[in-house]
Order: sequence, then structure tokens, then C-alpha cells
Amino acid sequence: MRASARIEENLYWYSKDKPVSSLFFRGYSVNVFAIDQGDEIWLIDAGVTKLGRPNRLVKCMRRDGLDPARIKKIFLTHAHPDHAAATGFFANRFDASIYIHKDERAALSGGSDYLWTEETRAARGMLSTFYPAPMWLVKVFMKYSIGETPRTANARLLESGEIVRGQKEDLMIIHTPGHVAGHACYYSPKLKAAFLGDLIDPSFDHKASLNFPASDYDAICQSIEKMASLDTKIICAAHAKEIITGAESSKTLYSGTLAKLNDAYRITVDLLKQAMGMRLKDFAGHYPKETWLLQDQICVPFSIIKSLEKKGKVRFDSGKFFYRE
Ligand SMILES: [Zn+2]
Repeated sequence: MRASARIEENLYWYSKDKPVSSLFFRGYSVNVFAIDQGDEIWLIDAGVTKLGRPNRLVKCMRRDGLDPARIKKIFLTHAHPDHAAATGFFANRFDASIYIHKDERAALSGGSDYLWTEETRAARGMLSTFYPAPMWLVKVFMKYSIGETPRTANARLLESGEIVRGQKEDLMIIHTPGHVAGHACYYSPKLKAAFLGDLIDPSFDHKASLNFPASDYDAICQSIEKMASLDTKIICAAHAKEIITGAESSKTLYSGTLAKLNDAYRITVDLLKQAMGMRLKDFAGHYPKETWLLQDQICVPFSIIKSLEKKGKVRFDSGKFFYRE
């Protein structure tokens, strides 16, 4: 089987699952998308360096008739290492510049230390509820399986709505916080293609990526609505097993994901109302498993609790969350 797919005239997909998804957890990565501009090649996300993935990507590009020496721009959806660990490879070898939304600047220059400091703060002392292993072990495992984002201080910072013009295709950046605060999607108006990064993970049943302690429920709902308002016929997501094509399928992905978020909200409120106080870990197991798995079962209710807190609907006392009408 070929390790790449041409989606459209100038658009190529290099699957995270080819030739393998990971090997003993090593090499877990994202889909990398390439736009052939003629003079330049632009990548959306870069994946990881484990299992020789960037070398393989370069090889597959050559097979597709794309000269990797033309890779001049890398558009990151955010700085998580599964998306950004290989940026150093492309920047060093082909002199490619890195583009990212301005709100993700600190995450990109701060690397994994920044990521875990932020997530630890967001977890409000309940980190062991989110991660069953001690933090040092989580970090070691992540470094082993995915690697680390190289600290990059000289990225080109983009504003939401800004358009980067290419010889054949333009790319608009759209700030889509929720998964992380600086997350962004990209949209190509001519291809009518949306590059979602970790906004939605279509490999599960309509899953919005609220899988970190700092993930923001209200923000991700607004971000999905923002993307749904664009005329889209191709959806390229970082962890998808396939590309979604057609305007109807695109709409269904957005509306279905919003519906699942709505369901999770209702489940959380019902649980809070029924119980005389809920510890965070009590929420796990109550959400549909075809959509939410492992730490989603904690991160999703936590993001909803934060939303309810903003409305004054939840108070926290002696380790428990209480609903108030
Ligand atoms: Zn991510």
C-alpha cells in the first residue's frame, strides 16, 4: 500500500498510520499534509522524529514527485510534540520557516516544560486524577513515545484571519482555542479544505479534543462553530484515519461533534444535580466510550465544570463539586 495519498491537485496526505501507527508506543504521530505551491511546498504540522518518520516522509514526497528541498513553510496547528517534534528536522535541512498562531508562542518557545507547568497549574492539585502515573513518569513516557518539541523562538506569529498567500493556494489561519489556548486551524479557500489539527478527532465518534486539564469547553464549542461557518468540502484532521470529503459530510462532522459536546454537558449537570457533591474522579465512566476514552472521561467533565463555575453554577468544597441552581 502506498504511504501517501494525493487528495487534490496540489494537496497530499502523509498518514500517521503508514507504515505503522506506532511500535511499542514509539512513534505515535499525526497526519502531515503537504501543499505543492510550485515554487514551494508547505506542510501543515510536521509529526515526530521517532521511527525515522521525517526521512520516510521525504522519501514518500520524492515518490510523489515533490522535491523536499522546496519545503519552505511549516504551519503548526499548535506546539504539542506529536505535531511539532519534527519541525527542527525540516527547518535545519531545508531552511523551512515555522508559522504558528501568536497565542501559541510561549508553548513553542517553552517546549515540554511549559506544557506540563501549564497543565499542572490547570489541574488545581488534582493531577493524579488526570494522570494515573506520577508526572516524572508521564514525561519520560511521552519523551520515549513522541519526543519533544524543539524550543523555537523565531517562528512567524500569525493573527487569526491572516492569510498567507501562495503561488497556487492561500492559507488562512483561524484561532480555534479549546484543546489548548493557542490552537489554530488553517483553511484554504480555493481547495475549500480545512486543516483541523486537534480540534476534532474523527477517529472516534465525533470527538472534540478536550483531553488536557487546561482544555476549555466553551472555547472549543465556539471554535467548532467558527469552522462550521466556512464553505468546506475537504476536512484534514491530525489524527483522522481518513480524509472527510464533501460539503454534507463536513457539516455532519461539525454538527455531530457539537451534539456530543452538548450531551456531555447534560450528563455532567445531571450527575452534579443527583449527587450530594462529586469528586472529579467520580465522573469517569459516565460518558459514551465510543467518543470519550481514558483521560477524556476526566478532562471533559472538568472542562464543563469550569464552564459552569463561570456561570456561578458550581462551587468547590472539601474536594467535591456541588451544583447550585
Ligand atoms: Zn494536541
